[in-house]
Amino acid sequence: MATPATPEQPGAFVRRLPTGERLPLPADSVADWETFPFEGDLRVKPLRPPVLPEPARSGEDGPGACPTCRKPVTEALWADDHWRVDAVGTESRLPAVVMLQPRGHHDLSDLPAERAAELGPLLQRVERAVLGLDGVARVHVNRWGDGAAHLHFWFLALP
Ligand SMILES: [Zn+2]
Repeated sequence: MATPATPEQPGAFVRRLPTGERLPLPADSVADWETFPFEGDLRVKPLRPPVLPEPARSGEDGPGACPTCRKPVTEALWADDHWRVDAVGTESRLPAVVMLQPRGHHDLSDLPAERAAELGPLLQRVERAVLGLDGVARVHVNRWGDGAAHLHFWFLALP
């Protein structure tokens, strides 16, 4: 039987990876899409060894050390008792970039059922608001969660 993954030991999938090598771009890579914004040859970085245990993300220690929880709700573009929408700078050169976040300190996996039930309608509502901006054709909605423990959805307005 294979040794299971632990916080200090990589699992079977990671142990099989060719650490130090470059993985090829997939044949049907996003880099082949008409909308992909870069041109020229892309090269994947060599695969680094796993870092275990997984490094803590911003706000991982709870709401007291979470930048999102500490941010005054008065700085939000919109908020109700449970959610907030914030603007995210203009360095991207996109018409708008906003972020939807619960006001409580949750990630997606521990979002209370009541908040999870509100999420679908809120995703639609924020997308519609961004689509209503002048010259916005589509909205990319993203969630990664690698940088911050506090759940956040990105809305990227495409002109
Ligand atoms: Zn938080």
